[in-house]
Amino acid sequence: MKAEDTIVALATPYGKSAISIIRVSGPSALEIVDALFQSPKGDNIILNSPSYRAHYGRLVFEDRLIDECICTVFKSPNSYTGEDSVEVSVHGSTYIQESTLAALIARGARMATEGEFTKRAFLNGKLDLSQAEAVIDIINSNNEKAHSLAFAQLRGGYSEKLKELRQDLLNLSSLLELELDFSEEDVEFADRVELLDSLIRIKIEVERLVESFSMGNAFKNGIPTIIIGKPNVGKSTLLNQLLKEERAIVSDIPGTTRDTIEESVILKGMEFRFIDTAGIRESQDIIEAKGIERTYELASKSKLILYIIDASTTSAEEIRGEMEELSNHIDLEDKEVILVLNKIDKSLNLNPKDIENLEPISISAKENTNLNTLVEKMISLVSHSELNTQILVSNQRHYESMIRILESIRAIELAFDADLPSDLIAIDINSALYHIGEITGEVSNDEILSNIFSNFCIGK
Ligand code: GDP
Repeated sequence: MKAEDTIVALATPYGKSAISIIRVSGPSALEIVDALFQSPKGDNIILNSPSYRAHYGRLVFEDRLIDECICTVFKSPNSYTGEDSVEVSVHGSTYIQESTLAALIARGARMATEGEFTKRAFLNGKLDLSQAEAVIDIINSNNEKAHSLAFAQLRGGYSEKLKELRQDLLNLSSLLELELDFSEEDVEFADRVELLDSLIRIKIEVERLVESFSMGNAFKNGIPTIIIGKPNVGKSTLLNQLLKEERAIVSDIPGTTRDTIEESVILKGMEFRFIDTAGIRESQDIIEAKGIERTYELASKSKLILYIIDASTTSAEEIRGEMEELSNHIDLEDKEVILVLNKIDKSLNLNPKDIENLEPISISAKENTNLNTLVEKMISLVSHSELNTQILVSNQRHYESMIRILESIRAIELAFDADLPSDLIAIDINSALYHIGEITGEVSNDEILSNIFSNFCIGK
């Protein structure tokens, strides 16, 4: 499946910078660069270069000097793409960037499409598809958690897991085949109880991976967090404090309408995505009943709920009532709730001891008191230690395939229970194997590939 053409693109952003790197990859990469390269050491330096060698020289096109440069040679198969490749480092001027690209194209290369280098790496077996996708996640990662998740996937932790699953299913399949072969002869064949045992083990693992998506996705895209509570309790004051607490306000994510604006902040390496920040800031305007309904609806989409109370006006009794109200309206099963007692700089209307069992965090949003404790609690609630050590699914595409794998496994289990013949069970096993292949890329088609790689930038 070797590509026949040689592709070229800027690997660094277009624009003024200290250095720019132009990447060339394909069967004629060395030849094309060599034709433009003049070295003090003589001719055909690039063409005859060993792998992993950097050469200093001049780039010259039609007798015109483009730049002085360093060309680093990577020979197939020991390059990112698996093909012969050269990285040309030039001065970061837009004129030089454009002239170098134009000269390389004039010598026979063509502009790469989005993600084409990584696509070639995949097609040449340097990475499986889930690892190729990890490359995008690494480039997009803006916090420690997303970064470590992406690297775990790139290093193949995930692919290893899928390989094991695949192997387990293949074993199951061959045991069943054995059963089929000897079924006519009334011999003792594969013990179905044992087969079922190994199937259940597979199922538990897949169920865990399916469930891990909600956390994996939250780590990758920010933990969806909502701040709720009655008007004037200090929600917007707290939001403002949190957003300026740590150096990075990473993004304003405008929604379709003004009232679904989200803002993110990275707190101690973890990204929190605050849902409906416009709503929080304008809480006084919301018509009570409608506002409450909407708040519950948004809260049900979040992973972390900061429930704010004005401790200077609310009694312990009322707090218990509000918390009960909350649990009556939304399913808190997969959520973490932090009860926040605000305005502790004022005289309190309650004794925090009376609501000790609700584990409240007492703060003053206005005076910036105890916010650190609140942030620590937020982090500790969403990063259970087991999740830190386990492989998480963080990619929507993988998640969808994973669900289908689970469905197939459940079908196999049912077939076992109903004592169906082996050849029928084999159909479901094949279907599970197919969906595993979708994740790793053993099963893929042009449409899937172009969908995935179009998310890359050109040059990657
Ligand atoms: P929201 O309606 O829940 O968003 O509440 P705001 O953040 O707009 O705050 C309502 C009022 O409470 C404002 O006048 C704030 O300055 C004040 N406030 C907020 N937090 C505190 C606090 O910790 N202590 C005191 N004393 N006042 C606060």
